[in-house]
Amino acid sequence: MDPKPEDMAEVFRTRRIGFGRCLEPTMQCDQPAIRAHSIQNRQTIALLEQDNHVLAWQPRFSQAGPDVALRRIGRNDASTFAGFCNQHDTELFRPLDTKALDAADREQLFLLAYRGITCELHAIMTGVVQLQSLYTARVERGADSPDSSSPAGQKAVEQMLLSWATWRYRHSYYDEPLLRRSFEGVEHEVLDLNDQAPCLAASSFITVKDVPINEELVGVAINILPVSETRTVAAFSYAKKDQGSIRAALDRILGSTGDTQRYELSKLVLSRISNVLISPRHFDQWSEERKKKIADAFVRTVESQQDVGEDADFMLF
Ligand SMILES: [Zn+2]
Repeated sequence: MDPKPEDMAEVFRTRRIGFGRCLEPTMQCDQPAIRAHSIQNRQTIALLEQDNHVLAWQPRFSQAGPDVALRRIGRNDASTFAGFCNQHDTELFRPLDTKALDAADREQLFLLAYRGITCELHAIMTGVVQLQSLYTARVERGADSPDSSSPAGQKAVEQMLLSWATWRYRHSYYDEPLLRRSFEGVEHEVLDLNDQAPCLAASSFITVKDVPINEELVGVAINILPVSETRTVAAFSYAKKDQGSIRAALDRILGSTGDTQRYELSKLVLSRISNVLISPRHFDQWSEERKKKIADAFVRTVESQQDVGEDADFMLF
């Protein structure tokens, strides 16, 4: 049975403040979530780090408002999210975490996608908690009426529906198949970037089409990870039924090679993915002007939901 909106509301009801639920496939686990890595520390971050640090998008708050930039972060804190308890994080991802990535191993690719989509589900659910408490605070001080017709109330409801749609998607294509150990319903396009020094890693799930909230999402899990000093892999994972839409949406990346492909991939990362880690060695080679251009482009796309546009400086590899 697919999850209903009430089921999603119930998931939130069990934890009032903050959000630290284990989002394992059945959503029944009551163990506290730990801060787990969405991008693997031991193999992937190890190839990027310098002095135990990498760069990630981080906001800094000042009186002028939040200022988002690529900033240094300790490797143990990089890309973590509180989405699985210790036991589920260890057991679910053992086939992925205990051996090197094999691009032909469907179980590994499935688990890689599962981690990316769960990280995104967690981010969306965290947004629900934040928007709800913002709205509740406004109602309490009389700034909004309690009937959720205000913009703040609407936003909270929309975010709740988005979290439900994302969970529903994961439920159909990942949770139930994972419990059956059936990995055939998710397809993968895997790009091998050879002669590529470790520059960046990314993990996320994005939608490629606007569909009404009661219809199924059309989305793709994206994982980009260096696997050696000379090779990076980019894996795109999607439900088999969405193959046509996904291939069309990723056409410029899948249909190109070499530097053009890396540039197209960079623009997608910059436009749509915030869970990105960059190697300090690579970052230090960028001019100050280029760093600023990249940060401005990232902030602009977050705010406008637009594609990033063209600029040779957007090349992240
Ligand atoms: Zn658990």
